[in-house]
Order: sequence, then C-alpha cells, then structure tokens
Amino acid sequence: MQHLIQLLPDAIANQIAAGEVVQRPASVVKELMENAIDAGATRVEVSIREAGKALIQVTDNGSGMSAQDARMAFERHATSKIRSAEDLNRILTFGFRGEALASIAAVAQVKLRTRLPGEELGTELDIEASEIKRIQAAALPPGTTFQVRNLFYNVPARRNFLKSNPSETRQVLNEFVHIAVPRPEVHCSLTHNDTLVYDLPAASVQERLLAIFGAELRDKLLRFDEAAGYVRIWGFAGSPDVYRKQRGEQLFFVNSRYFRSAYLHHAIAGVYQEMIPKETHPFYCIFFEISPEHVDVNVHPTKSEVKFDDENTLYALLQSAVKRALAEWHQSPELGMADSELRRAIYDSRPAEEPEEDATIGSMSVRLPERKAAAPPDWQSLFGAPAAGGGLSRPAQRQMTLPGADPARERKDAIAEDAFLVQFQQRYIVTSRNDRLLIIDQRPAHQRILYERFLRAREGAPLPSQQVLFPQTLELSAADFLALQEVEEILQRMGFEVKEFARNTMIVYGVPAGVAAGKIREIFDQILEDVRVAGAAGSRSRLAEGIARAVARRTAISSNHKLSPAEMRNIANELFRCENPGISPSGKPTYRELSSVELEEYFR
Ligand code: ADP
Ligand code: MG
Repeated sequence: MQHLIQLLPDAIANQIAAGEVVQRPASVVKELMENAIDAGATRVEVSIREAGKALIQVTDNGSGMSAQDARMAFERHATSKIRSAEDLNRILTFGFRGEALASIAAVAQVKLRTRLPGEELGTELDIEASEIKRIQAAALPPGTTFQVRNLFYNVPARRNFLKSNPSETRQVLNEFVHIAVPRPEVHCSLTHNDTLVYDLPAASVQERLLAIFGAELRDKLLRFDEAAGYVRIWGFAGSPDVYRKQRGEQLFFVNSRYFRSAYLHHAIAGVYQEMIPKETHPFYCIFFEISPEHVDVNVHPTKSEVKFDDENTLYALLQSAVKRALAEWHQSPELGMADSELRRAIYDSRPAEEPEEDATIGSMSVRLPERKAAAPPDWQSLFGAPAAGGGLSRPAQRQMTLPGADPARERKDAIAEDAFLVQFQQRYIVTSRNDRLLIIDQRPAHQRILYERFLRAREGAPLPSQQVLFPQTLELSAADFLALQEVEEILQRMGFEVKEFARNTMIVYGVPAGVAAGKIREIFDQILEDVRVAGAAGSRSRLAEGIARAVARRTAISSNHKLSPAEMRNIANELFRCENPGISPSGKPTYRELSSVELEEYFR
C-alpha cells in the first residue's frame, strides 16, 4: 500500500503557524516592537503605510544582530531569550517562543537591516515566503530595522479578511499604545502615511498617558499604589468628572503586558457606578506587578487574556485601591472652590439623566454641575447662540430656522391650509391629514427631517455653513484625530467648517445653520462615537449616516419645547416630504394617525 503521510514543507508549516501569531498588521507591529524593546532599545520608531497592509517598518537602536543571528532569527523556534529548560517558565511569563519572525516572514516580504554596535558593517537580508532571497554586508547605523511589506500577499484569503484601513489603523494604534504605556522610558513614535501620529519622548507614565490620551486629563489622574503579599497594584484612576462614552481607555497591565479582563473591569465599574452617568466608562490605567508563579500569561501569543490563580482576592484589592483613590480626591482640602463645588455636585446628586446635556471635549466628557443651579451661567450665549436649558422655558427663537424649507424640494404640503394645529404638552403636534387625526412626536420628527437634510447634502448641494463667533478648539486623541480627518469632506458638505490646527487638534470655524455653538463639542463627541462604530464596518455611506444621525440628534428640538403654529405646520409638512417619515433616525416612531373609523370604534 502506498504511503500517504508526508511532512509539510517548512514554508507551509510556517504559514500555518503564522495564522496564530500574525492575524493583522497590528500583530506584526506588536511583535516587532516587543523585539525592539527586548533588544534594549531606548528608541523605537514605527512607521506604517495603508494601515500597515502595504508597509510596516520598525526601527530601533537596540543591540542589533550578527549576520549569523540575522539569518537564524527567522527559523522557527529560534530565540536568544531561552537557553535551557529552566528558562521554560519565562516562556509562560513573556511569551518567548521564537515564532514571531518565522511567522511574519512566511506571509510577507521582509527586509532586515541590522548592525551590532561593536561591528563596522551590518547585515542586510531579504526574505520572502520563508525563503532568504539575499543576504549581504552593508554600512548601517547600529540597531535594527525591519520592513514588512505586503502582508498576506501570498495568502489572499487572509488578506481579504482584513478590515477597512481606518479599522486596521485603529488596531495598530491600540497595539502601539498598549506597548508604549508600560515603557515610558523608551522613546516611541508612530507615523502613518507620513503623518506623525504619536511622538512620545521618554517620560513618566503619567506624562505618557497625557501625551496619548489628551492633556485634558492633567489634574484628573488619581494615582494610587498598594501592595499586599505577592502583588502590587498601582496606577491611575480618572477622577469622576472625566468619563468616556465608549470603552477603550481602560487599561490593565500585568508585569508590563497589556491584558483585558471583564471581571476586573467590573470591580472598578462598581466603584464609579454612582459617580458617573449610566452608559459611560471611567478612565483608568492599572499596573499589576505579580510574581510570575501566580499568573499565567496565556501561552497563546496573540490573546490578551491572562489567568491569575486568585482572581477573587485581586478583585477585592483592586476595588479597595480605587475606592481609596477616589475617596482621597473627594476629601483633598487643597483643591479650589470650583473643584469642591464640582465634587459636591458629583457626590451629592445622581448623574444627570440625559447625558446629551453634558458638555464634551474630544472623546471625554466634563460634567457641568452648575446646570443644576436655578440660573445656569449663560455659557452658550457666550458662543453666539441662545442658551439652552434656562431656568423657565427655553427661548422660543431657538431652532426657529432649523426645520426650514428646502427650496429644491417638492413644495406639496401634507397639512391643509385651514387645518387646525395645536401642541399638546409642549411635545405633540396634533393636527389632521387626509381626514385623519394626526399626532406627531415633535423631537423624533424633527430628527428625521434634519437627518435626511444632512444626508442629501452628501450628494446634492452642500449645506450652508454659519461662522461661529469664537472658533472652537477640539483636542483629540490621535485615533480620533485620524477618524475626523477621514470624514472631513462629509462634514464640510453638511456645513461644518473644520480645519487642522496642530497635531491632534482641530478647530471648528463654522457649523450648519441652526446649530448652537455651545453644542459643538457634544456634537463632535457623538460624531466620533458613530465614526468609530461605522468606521469599523468600513463603509462610507454608513459613516455619512452616522454623522447625519449624530448631528440630527444633537440639534433637534427637545420634547419639551413650545412651538408656534408656523413652526408646527413647518415640521408637519417637512416630515411628510421625507423619504421615510414614519421613523426617527434612532428608530423611534415619529407620528401616529387615527382614522374616523378607528375613532368611532373607540367611542363605541
Ligand atoms: P522571540 O522574540 O520569541 O525570541 P522572535 O521570532 O520574535 O522570537 O525573534 C527571534 C530572535 O531574533 C530573538 O530572540 C532575537 O534574538 C532576535 N531579534 C528579533 N528582533 C530583534 C531586534 N529588533 N534586535 C535584536 N535582535 C532581535
Ligand atoms: Mg519576539
């Protein structure tokens, strides 16, 4: 009988192994950065093109490699980090498996340039699909540069499986941050398509967090440091007046390795529960230092989960550490008046029911406790728009112009000239249409009108922009800055005038007519949230819909707003000119109708 079993050729075995280590550009960035840091580099420069799909380059000033090591490095199970079986538990601790380079070289075109500091000449090596194409001596700076081109060029199935560029870029940025945060002594930079996204000189952890997540966090990071038995837990918890609308700025590290843990997150969420609005998340960055025998850093190289042998104790320790940090902030006497008022507002009252009413900066929100006072400061009128949420009722002129007619649209009216129009509870427009009783819920209806108007602006005539009196600066995280650049054109067409000012800073000069300047930050916060979600799906029309929805939601009249008969008529007529009048962009019904038959039924 013929023998069927054969050994796989090395190149194919490597490709299969690569499936575990290299899933996307972000995994290559992670492996190369970790290698650079293991090599003692004090400076690591990452540069990517097209989200890393075209090129990932990592340059370090570390130990470099000899010609022989350069060649060996790409062999499977080649590692300089483990010498004997005793070192085996270091595999568990640090994940050294000597697999990363072999895996990367199996699925990309790799160029390695490296020189030992003590040598005259370095080595230049090209490897493609696990095959060394060229190796030669070359004059090079000390240290190592890896260039990884056309990831998955030889595995089309995997290449097609990659997400859109914005989504892959975000993952690269996340990975970069996860490596840069616990190593603040290493100067790390990241360039994307020639744009310097991060440049993080050696600094303290705290300074590094500010450089990454935004200077608004200054004075908002509560440091704590507690040790018990074999574990030390330290780090920073965001004060409760900063909170995030989305997950992603909650970081855990164990022995300098990033990990995720829903369980430990829960411990912290519990502490903040009463202090920040529902559906928001605290900022935190927490380091666990644990002797290795108490932690199993999963042997799977790409998984960011770990196993602790006594998770319940960690949960309790973590919770009490964070609690104490927050309590100290609460009591600290040296804070000024404004801060103590802020604190009282935060501790003495439940968070505002409607997070829409909070002011937001970038992806961060700052609660404005003054709003609870009887006469709020007129901060919105400062910016050239009428104040919202005033003591009595909202000024009637607000939004007057918004439902405004669109001359390009068909002018047929849904509401007869002589139809009655009343407003019920400052919320429902009651009138008649085609012999039916019509009840419109004004806020969702207005949202629908605005939403379609913004969407039309994408294809048709751009909406006019109205200059704001005081241009507003948005300080953003690098990821959000990139996201905004991505949608700049769509924003422009919808009437936003946004310009880059400095790295990670945008200035808003103009907004669609009718948008209150005081709402700009909230609107952009919402936009960024939607862009993150839609961007992950990678579709431009989804992006536009997300933006239109965000702006519509933030600019529509409220459910408690007195309308003039002209405004009511305008809303009713505009609503029925919409393509999809029955439902708001967030899925709520906009109106109900009752026929005379139904009414008769009702009175039977
Ligand atoms: P591991 O990191 O698990 O040892 P890798 O495949 O990532 O496995 O790397 C293989 C070996 O190549 C490393 O052990 C190290 O000796 C060498 N190496 C990789 N990158 C660098 C670098 N940037 N500088 C110096 N040596 C490196
Ligand atoms: Mg490695």
